[in-house]
Parts: sequence; structure tokens; C-alpha cells
Amino acid sequence: MKSQMKLAAASLMLATLMGAAACSPDASGSDPVAAEAPTASPDVHPFKVGALDLIALRDGGMSGVPNNNTVLGVGRTPAEVASVLTANGLPGESFSLSVQPLLVRDGAHVVLLDAGAGNSFGPGAGKLPASLSAAGVQLDQVTDVLISHSHGDHVIGLVNASGTLTFPNATIRMAAAEWEFLKANAQMNALVATITPKVQTFQPGAAALTPSISSVAINGHTPGHMGYEIKSGTDSLLYIGDTLHHSVISVQRPEWQIAFDNDAPTATASRAALLERAASQNLRVHAVHFPFPGLGRFQRRDDGFVWVLETAAQP
Ligand SMILES: [Zn+2]
Repeated sequence: MKSQMKLAAASLMLATLMGAAACSPDASGSDPVAAEAPTASPDVHPFKVGALDLIALRDGGMSGVPNNNTVLGVGRTPAEVASVLTANGLPGESFSLSVQPLLVRDGAHVVLLDAGAGNSFGPGAGKLPASLSAAGVQLDQVTDVLISHSHGDHVIGLVNASGTLTFPNATIRMAAAEWEFLKANAQMNALVATITPKVQTFQPGAAALTPSISSVAINGHTPGHMGYEIKSGTDSLLYIGDTLHHSVISVQRPEWQIAFDNDAPTATASRAALLERAASQNLRVHAVHFPFPGLGRFQRRDDGFVWVLETAAQP
């Protein structure tokens, strides 16, 4: 019960944050020019991992309102959080998180990593279908959706406003523990009923889910939270899900508790371990909530880490 209460509180907080979102000057997604010139859309970021084609797709964003920015540092004062934000050139009185699922063309598979927030968290998110269209991908072409975890901003986009499957031909894959966690969340009953026929679960560390994508257990955020490794030849990319939420606070203060973490001590340890490994190995990373397109690397600075965003699109 305790974890359900925590989830309900976290979901409510997220809904509050996203309901208050005013950070996204949304295009309608109906721009006919965007559909004909996919790489020109600001909501679409194509890039390569080895021989594979990937696209970061903007779903939208959310903003924390004043006094709520301590969700990034539970138990810290707003002034403590603000001082880290302003030292990095960001406003101190609020924060923004982006949402950008990732598309991977993996042989015959058209794979989506996470499904966005759908239409349930206000106008700041839910653009994923429009972004897919701008990228020239039809919803029925998606063959697999790999879910990092079952919080609303990652799974509610699986179902459209009509209550039917957004990606009708896709198998929806998530860790077995995460599926149990989702089914136990009464707020998600309707979504669970809709997606159940399409769900296939896996055990962390199982064989590749698609030819080039494997799961990587990153514990703590939720019971079955997964990262995903995409490999092609000697190139790779690590999709980190919600291991880190904010590109400044989560990276420069990884020991601070985030309100959305289900098991905060474990999540904090996972954050520290990931930063250490990613910086040591110079891993290329995709972070779903970092500034769009969420692609970059962690580098050591002083006695900690910084996020270095990769901005230039690869040919
Ligand atoms: Zn999230």
C-alpha cells in the first residue's frame, strides 16, 4: 500500500506539474510542410548509431511552478535548488523537463522507446503522433514499443483520445516486474485493459528484444525500470529512461532525492553508478527528459559530472 500511495502522490504531483505546464509553444503538428520535409521539423532529430537510423521525437515538455522545484531535491530548500540552476544559467524559480521518446529502425522492426504522455497531462505534451508524422512514420508502422517504466509520461501515449491503441500493430514490451507494478495502479485500469493483448514481458538481461536492442536494468525509479542499449557494430547508445530527470540537478547533484523515485536510496545509487560508468566509458546517452533532443555524454568536471548535449545532427 505504501508504494501505491507513493505512486499516487507522484502521479498527482506530475499531473500538477504538467497541468501547470506553459513551457511548450506548441505547433499544431498539422503543418503540411513538416510532413513533406521531415528533417526540417524542430520536433524531429534524426541521427545514426552505427548503421542504424534513429530519431528523437518531441512529445512536449513540463514545467515546475515556483516552490515546486524542490521535487528535484526532496528535503532541500528552494534556495539550494535555485543556486544550482542559476549557476548553470537557468532560471532559479522553476524548472523544465522535456519529453522525447526515441525511434529506432532495427531491420524489419520499427521500435519506439517509450510512448509519451498522451493527452492526459495538458497541452504541454502529447505531440508524439504529430512528431512521428513529421518524421514520415505512420502509427501503424511501429512494430515494437519498449517501455522504460510505467509512469504516465511514458505509457499514457500508448492509448489515444478514443481509448484505443495508438500503435495498433505494435507489441508492447516491458519488464515483468514493471507490468505487475502497472497492473496494481488503479489509476491505470483502463489503459491496462486496452494494452493487455499487446503486452509481452521480459526478464532483465534476457536476450535481445529486437536484433540490436537489449534491456539494461537500472533499479530504483520503479520496480521494473529499464534502460535500453542500442548497438550497431562498434557504436552504441544507452537509453537511460528516468535514471536522471534534469540535465543540471540530476547530473551535478545525483545524491539529491527526486520526488518521482519509488525507491529513493536505490535510485540514487543507480544514478551515481550510471554517471561513473558513462563518463569512464564515454558512453553516448539518450535522456528522455533532458533538453531536446536529449542526446549527449556525461563528462567529469571538478569532483562531479556535467551533461554535454550533442547538438549537431549527423548526416
Ligand atoms: Zn518520466
